[in-house]
Amino acid sequence: MIPYNKPYLSGSETAYIEQAVRAGHLSGDGEFSRRCHRYFEQHYGLHRALLTHSGTAALEMAALLLELQPGDEVIMPSFTFVTTATAFVLRGARVVFVDSSPLNPNLDAAAVEGLITPRTRAIVPIHYGGVACDMDPLLALARQHQLAVVEDAAPAFDGYYRGRRLGTLGALAAFSFHETKNIQAGEGGLLAINDPGYVRRAEIIREKGTDRSAFFRGEVARYQWVDVGSSYLPSELTAAFLWAQLENAEAIQARRCALWRRYTEALQPLAALGVGLPFIPDYATVNGHLFYLVCRSAQERTALLARLRERGILAVFHYQPLHSSPFYAPHHDGRALPWAAHYADCLLRLPLFVELSEEQQQYIIDAVLAFYR
Ligand SMILES: *Cc1c(COP(=O)(O)O)cnc(C)c1O
Repeated sequence: MIPYNKPYLSGSETAYIEQAVRAGHLSGDGEFSRRCHRYFEQHYGLHRALLTHSGTAALEMAALLLELQPGDEVIMPSFTFVTTATAFVLRGARVVFVDSSPLNPNLDAAAVEGLITPRTRAIVPIHYGGVACDMDPLLALARQHQLAVVEDAAPAFDGYYRGRRLGTLGALAAFSFHETKNIQAGEGGLLAINDPGYVRRAEIIREKGTDRSAFFRGEVARYQWVDVGSSYLPSELTAAFLWAQLENAEAIQARRCALWRRYTEALQPLAALGVGLPFIPDYATVNGHLFYLVCRSAQERTALLARLRERGILAVFHYQPLHSSPFYAPHHDGRALPWAAHYADCLLRLPLFVELSEEQQQYIIDAVLAFYR
């Protein structure tokens, strides 16, 4: 069976974990965490990078930093991972779902303005599959209405919008290092802070509501409970693992993008049949996170998934729309979001991971083309 994903290992992970164990600093924010923070601050030009134990934790920190009040509204696409929404719902916010674009599963930027009310506090664009949302119109709306933009950049490592790195465009952004992502630590995440006004409080929220980070820098004589907070920092074991991945980021990205390009070229003939291939707007880049097809119907997708499985290939579908989920449907305002439903019903992801061989990929391509012949 060719799996959908196989977590990449550079080979240095266990050696670095051993190094962390020998150094005797196992809780968070030791040397490996500092290296990871520096990597993101230098390569991304972030004002501050803070490792978290998941992408979800970074989103929850963002929601805490916005000081949302019950009833405040947050606009996000329905076609996204569940924790994009739960992070804000935990704070009592009301999620207002926007449909996906007809061109790709990212939110339809033109549909956002009509959803803004006096209660709107934030817009949360998701860069689906690491492909940028159209950020300029969203940032302009946010400025005009004084809204925060929180990028869910969980899958967007090494993606760009008009030459600017994803995760650097909103006031805050969340990255994930879940084992399904390009750079992985099993579970892990990062809060990217681009608005310096959030830095001090982010450190406090991440350190159980205390000013412990300032204490370790020698800025206060003792650390105290000063705000709300929780425990959001990962241990050095996670950071050591992650550092082994970041050191190899270039090779990982080169391989994943090569696989992505090969799929795109080989499956191009399907476009003439009306099968959807990834649409990459001219303002966006490819980061090789995932490769999808949009089948012409739900039945066709079911049949293709079954055919591939018969041939030992594990393809998978993706998100179920959040606006019609059992938990949130009763809170949704009833608007139909046809494109979110369409991607939920018809999108199919093909195996894509660093160790996927040329032969395996050709076998997958042949199986897909044979299905449509
Ligand atoms: C992976 C992902 C998350 C969650 O990240 P975790 O690290 O698993 O908590 C959130 N949003 C999107 C869009 C994702 O792809």
